[in-house]
Amino acid sequence: MNKSLSDKIRNIEPYVPGEQPGGEGIIKLNTNENPYPPSPKAADVIKELNAERLRLYPSFKCHQLKKALCDIYKLNENQIFLGNGSDEVLAMCFMTFFNSNLPVLFADITYSFYDVWCGLFNISFKKVALDNDFKINIKDYLTPNGGIVIANPNAPTGVYSELSDIEEIIAFNKGCAVIIDEAYVDFGAKSASELINKYDNLIVVHTFSKSRSLAGIRVGYAMASKELINALEAVKNSFNSYTLDTASQLIAAKCAEDTEYFNLCRQKIIKTREQTVSELEKLGFEMPKSYANFIFPKHPLIKADELFEYLKKRNIFVRYFNKPRINDRIRITIGTDEQMKILLSAIKDYMEENNISIK
Ligand SMILES: *Cc1c(COP(=O)(O)O)cnc(C)c1O
Repeated sequence: MNKSLSDKIRNIEPYVPGEQPGGEGIIKLNTNENPYPPSPKAADVIKELNAERLRLYPSFKCHQLKKALCDIYKLNENQIFLGNGSDEVLAMCFMTFFNSNLPVLFADITYSFYDVWCGLFNISFKKVALDNDFKINIKDYLTPNGGIVIANPNAPTGVYSELSDIEEIIAFNKGCAVIIDEAYVDFGAKSASELINKYDNLIVVHTFSKSRSLAGIRVGYAMASKELINALEAVKNSFNSYTLDTASQLIAAKCAEDTEYFNLCRQKIIKTREQTVSELEKLGFEMPKSYANFIFPKHPLIKADELFEYLKKRNIFVRYFNKPRINDRIRITIGTDEQMKILLSAIKDYMEENNISIK
């Protein structure tokens, strides 16, 4: 390429999501999707959707979906911002709220998209080390900063910080925005959404991709004071007025209303998680207590990258991060009981073939 041309082109290191392998017989435990289908209401919406409606732009107000969320979180519609997946919502939040010369703070081990957005939007940041149990140290966040983002429960560790700790951080930092990314909150953690009417610097971000089994339609949302939501809307409307299409709005609204199905699904996953943890511990694995739909085990006698490759050869996809402090672990998404049984038997085979004794 012409040097002068290439000098004008943005060169950026993007976020790399987990593989999306296709084909029969694959057990996909690598991107924290839900193993169960979405609420049956989703299929009803798709069947009843009148294609004629797609001629028009989607609803700007997203009333039905916002109302469903307001009923769940006891908020007003002007406290909700919707987007095309929570990745988009988070990117908009970074653009809207992180405009300071002071660095934005986030953990050294957390969702790796945060670095990418800081790079994309030229936001200065400082990574704060988690302790040896992957817990955050509150004191690290009680210092001048340009904003804070915390995934709680954290990814890829599954570790949850108590709401009282999160509140201490929010309360200390009234002069800057604190984003709590709660992608996994529905698997046993407590949401900071109950603090929204108390702190106007708090933004809580959720997704339909994990607990609501809707990664395929891309719906996420932020909850905050109406002033912060207004600021987000203004940035979004300077970018793309219609980030959420008609079909996604309708499907997400109907699924959000189906509380019974939602509770059934997440309880099943929590139960499978606890069973899987106990089976893995019997084999000598150790892992932090997970409040998410994944676990993050290591084994003193197993090389994580080797186990990762072995499982892949058996068509079982998990996630391995070749990064300091976590390259001795694999992250396993919780699937169905049946999938976990196949995974455990593959791990046992690996241990047998490598003469690793089961204690
Ligand atoms: C999965 C995930 C998201 C993004 O979810 P979307 O599919 O874009 O809604 C955001 N934050 C964390 C920590 C995640 O794990």
